[in-house]
Amino acid sequence: AKHEGRGRYAIFDPLMHFHAVQQMHLENDLRKAIKNNELVLYYQPIVNIKTQKIQGLEALVRWQHPERGLLSPGHFIEIAENTGLIIPIGKWLLHKACQQLEEWKNQFPSHCLKMSVNLSVKQLEGFLLEQLDEVLNSYNLNHNSLVMEITESMLVANVQKTCDLLSQIQAKGIGLSIDDFGTGYSSLSYLHQLPVNSLKIDRSFVSPENLSDRHQVIAKSIIALSKLLKLHVIAEGVETPEQFYWLKKLGCEAAQGYLFSRPVPASEITELLSQQFLC
Ligand code: C2E
Ligand code: CA
Ligand code: CA
Repeated sequence: AKHEGRGRYAIFDPLMHFHAVQQMHLENDLRKAIKNNELVLYYQPIVNIKTQKIQGLEALVRWQHPERGLLSPGHFIEIAENTGLIIPIGKWLLHKACQQLEEWKNQFPSHCLKMSVNLSVKQLEGFLLEQLDEVLNSYNLNHNSLVMEITESMLVANVQKTCDLLSQIQAKGIGLSIDDFGTGYSSLSYLHQLPVNSLKIDRSFVSPENLSDRHQVIAKSIIALSKLLKLHVIAEGVETPEQFYWLKKLGCEAAQGYLFSRPVPASEITELLSQQFLC
């Protein structure tokens, strides 16, 4: 039945049915998740390659599901997007991340920490500017300590409108970063007109299996391009010392990955931060 196209099945497929029912359950559960406080933010350090100190954190959502345990965003972000639940969830995440950043700033006043938050395309369409004003008013933070991560795919639909919105975000002093850089469409044709501050090199371009082939050339080029365009550049998925030293040699500024830490609960970040000297 598969050749009839995506989502169209002439024959009843029990496996598809099972999957659909599961998704429906997840959707219902997700509606209750915010109210029941089941969503949690984990944080992963972004490390400055020169100083080897934590310069920022990326907030990554998890769902402590009552029956299924800790779920990673791959299990529910798409459902949240398709149902519109990403709007209230995104708002909650933004508040939570800012509240946590304020707490760390108070605890470690000499750290110049930044907090990166992932945005979904649906959030760009709904109340984002209002939500950002609200958090900036609610917490005592420098606007530039907040960074929004967007992906290239968000630009495809309506470049002009998206650019306008991003400019408004940047005008508030908030940083913008392009996530998974190099994996989307037409990135280069938009790059010069996009109001962004940094690029995050997708982990496929720095992965150890790819270190000896053409991927390396792409990573090198992205780092060189960032310098020319005066953008900050962060490498994702850094798992080994070899990757780290290779990136250092290429002049990459910052790195994120299991080599330093997996995404962990806030309490573990507090511990990491208290072990550090001033940045
Ligand atoms: P992302 O923004 O590219 O986040 C990085 C992902 O890479 C995270 O997966 C992180 O756990 C994983 N990672 C970090 N270091 C390494 C490494 O050294 N090796 C490998 N193999 N992986 C590493 P995670 O937390 O499962 O998140 C997956 C995606 O879900 C994120 O990709 C992001 O697109 C989305 N996401 C996460 N949190 C949020 C959120 O709060 N809002 C929205 N809209 N999307 C989110
Ligand atoms: Ca991200
Ligand atoms: Ca990424």
